Amino acid sequence: MVLIVGNEPEVVGADLRAGKLACPHCEADLRPWGSARLRTTRLAVGVERHQPRRGRCRGCKKTSVLLAERFFARRVDEAALIGEALFAKATGSGQRAAAARTGRARETVRNWFARFGHRAAELSRHFLAWALALDARLHEVSPQGSGFADAVEALALAARAASICFSPKPVWSWASRMTAGGLLANTTWPYPAPP
Ligand SMILES: [Zn+2]
Repeated sequence: MVLIVGNEPEVVGADLRAGKLACPHCEADLRPWGSARLRTTRLAVGVERHQPRRGRCRGCKKTSVLLAERFFARRVDEAALIGEALFAKATGSGQRAAAARTGRARETVRNWFARFGHRAAELSRHFLAWALALDARLHEVSPQGSGFADAVEALALAARAASICFSPKPVWSWASRMTAGGLLANTTWPYPAPP
């Protein structure tokens, strides 16, 4: 399983050694357990090679990959870039415009849209649950004209509430945290419940 962590490897390493990271399966603490395979992620400009740490649970003994929140699991593009395309789609752009804006092939962008769109209703409910849990003043979300746009709007509300409650982070980092990296997963993915 993937545990989404902060972007600073030194902080993640220190937290892991101190037992401050909780197992996504059972919430017991994780201990260092080597590294996952080397990943190459495409950024808006250039690529980044990085090797996520792994942790092993002291309770259930399962291992988890500690993936930085600027990424999604199983995606070769950084979260912010994918998010830019999803946001463009939610505000009316087509594949061609989103592909031009992000510098990615139309086929790639079509795949992102399809994955997100396929889960849009589930994601809407999930992000809304987070938003409602974190923002007591929020009662409803105004319809945005499509299920896709509703899900992006629910994410924006949840991310804003989480940035106020916890610490300021970009929307797509919250998207990664709130979905355990599985925003665009094509398999069943365990989304973490709101706190
Ligand atoms: Zn565990």
